[in-house]
Amino acid sequence: MIISFFGPQGSGKSTQSFLLAKRTGMLSFSMGDALRREVKENTEIGQVIKEILKRGELVPSEITNEIILKAINSPEAEKGIIIDGYPRNKEQLDFYSKNFHTDYAFEFFISDEVAIKRLSNRRVCPNCGLNYNIMNLKDTYKCTVCNVELVQRDDDTPESIKRRLEIYKKEIIPIREYYKNLGVLHILDASKSIEEVDEDLRKILNIK
Ligand code: AMP
Repeated sequence: MIISFFGPQGSGKSTQSFLLAKRTGMLSFSMGDALRREVKENTEIGQVIKEILKRGELVPSEITNEIILKAINSPEAEKGIIIDGYPRNKEQLDFYSKNFHTDYAFEFFISDEVAIKRLSNRRVCPNCGLNYNIMNLKDTYKCTVCNVELVQRDDDTPESIKRRLEIYKKEIIPIREYYKNLGVLHILDASKSIEEVDEDLRKILNIK
């Protein structure tokens, strides 16, 4: 089973992906996380894409296509995979739609204002990738799972956030259309609370 999540940055895709994966045993896969891991581990790919990620631009599709192939065919995805952040443009969509079938696609809908506010307040665990909103934290900014200090992402600066939202809006049009024509598109009101969006998702997927 392939479930696809898409929506602007800050719309809560990765939070919901973690929750759904925990519940179902599916693999939660984020293309952004996979790319950041390459940079962190300073791999050959990591060295090529480091600056691209910092600027908030899209990395070449040859790289992302290879990464997605590996993820979908990995043993961890045996029970299915939730894909967050791929495909992200027409070139990736062409490759993806030729090779795979999507069972459910969820669009996480929020306004620019909400996205910018959430991203400015976002901190992330450098170890496991869990996202936190500092408005929901008390005095310490530590990961509740790994107990390490949370960090702000390099690309969560106002300039980069704006650029990413612009790229997102332009590139997502053919992808939304593709899922719509396939009859698998569901639109979620992602301005709701984490619990409410989780409930909406489970209703559609028929998961208790
Ligand atoms: P995200 O974690 O989804 O916000 O992605 C962080 C960054 O990773 C993006 O701004 C892009 O630079 C890169 N990235 C993530 N997914 C893709 C993709 N499907 N294609 C190209 N670049 C991507």
